[in-house]
Amino acid sequence: MSKSGLPARDARVCWHPWTQHFGQTPPVPVIRGEGAWLVGPGNQRYLDAISSWWVTVHGHAHPAIAAAIGAQAALLDQVIFAGCTHEPAVGLAEELLARLPSGLARIFYSDDGSTAVEVALKMALQFHRNRGSPRSVMLALEDAYHGDTFGAMSVSARGVFTAAFQDQLFAVERLPAPGDPGLLPALDRMLDHRGSEIAAIIVEPLVQGAAGMRMWDAATLRALAGKVRSEGVLLIADEVMTGFGRTGPLFACEHADVSPDLICLSKGLTGGSLPLGVTAATEEVFEAFLGADRRTALFHGHSYTANPIACAAARASLALFDERSADQRRTLEAVHRDEMSRLARYPRVVAPRVLGTIAAFDLADSETGYLSSAARGLTAFGLERGVLLRPLGSVVYVMPPYCTRPEELRQVYAVLGEFLETR
Ligand code: PMP
Repeated sequence: MSKSGLPARDARVCWHPWTQHFGQTPPVPVIRGEGAWLVGPGNQRYLDAISSWWVTVHGHAHPAIAAAIGAQAALLDQVIFAGCTHEPAVGLAEELLARLPSGLARIFYSDDGSTAVEVALKMALQFHRNRGSPRSVMLALEDAYHGDTFGAMSVSARGVFTAAFQDQLFAVERLPAPGDPGLLPALDRMLDHRGSEIAAIIVEPLVQGAAGMRMWDAATLRALAGKVRSEGVLLIADEVMTGFGRTGPLFACEHADVSPDLICLSKGLTGGSLPLGVTAATEEVFEAFLGADRRTALFHGHSYTANPIACAAARASLALFDERSADQRRTLEAVHRDEMSRLARYPRVVAPRVLGTIAAFDLADSETGYLSSAARGLTAFGLERGVLLRPLGSVVYVMPPYCTRPEELRQVYAVLGEFLETR
């Protein structure tokens, strides 16, 4: 590694997310993005098979999104969103609400997925308090992941990601993971005993992402939504990962025909170009914050709330969700299903699964979980063959941008097949 090259300079000054720097292989230098591809020095090309942490939906450096960002940056870069407003924020809110599940009526902007979750949790707790019947219990599911800030960590599964902070996390009532047949009976018992204390339940509709792309069925989501609604418990859908077409329809809740009280969005919201979070709420939730007493307001905001450039990027991205995009997603799903059925023949491939543009399998090993070394070596193996992959412990997944061509996606599976042959 040259001392003046980018990885060496990085090693002196940067601290990377979710990275044990000790013994870490140097990071991959990337200069530009082009559709499904990332390009490094010497024209080294990598197919982004993980959509850069699940954010890139239409492809990298999309010209329409780049143009919208440029135009907005030259017109109005930023303005305080307490007391001021602007076309990108209002227009995006209108356009989002037209496409979100019915019932959602208000858009609250924040910065990323974790802050979208924090806002939803605060809205849920204060909603009940403002209505004069405080409820303090949050319900969450085993294996959940909702982000890295403290509220989001509190409702996430307790485990290796949260161990260092466990004494600081607030208590949450936990129900079995959604794939567990014990979930609905446990929910019934919980609602029977403590229904009137529970403020909200938070779920990742149909796919628990960071848990290892654990997929669950629409009927369970529909049943869960019906049960909590009858007890006045708010349903928070964390669609930070599943939103914007990842599972097929624009939002995963659509599979179950469920309309949550609160929905959290980020990642694909701007097409993966800029950070932006959204928490959408029903009018009923919003109305609980209205009143002559200023103390019933939601005291939450970030310096960059509703940043005009990010909102403009999100509007440009949303406009790209047309029939062509839906076709691209259907094609990717068909290729996933075809290729996964081939990979399923390898004895080490366990529980192959596909939903929309997401495909995953577990790699059989004595160790499971995030710290498993089962898939160790896959990232380097893929990079050598021009594919960017990043397994979640023993779980290997493929989640490409929607512009990925069928033959490019098949290339990713060829690399996975070769890895399974040789390891
Ligand atoms: N919720 C879910 C379901 C997620 O997958 C993630 C990120 N992987 C988050 C929340 C947190 O989003 P962010 O990383 O943008 O804070």
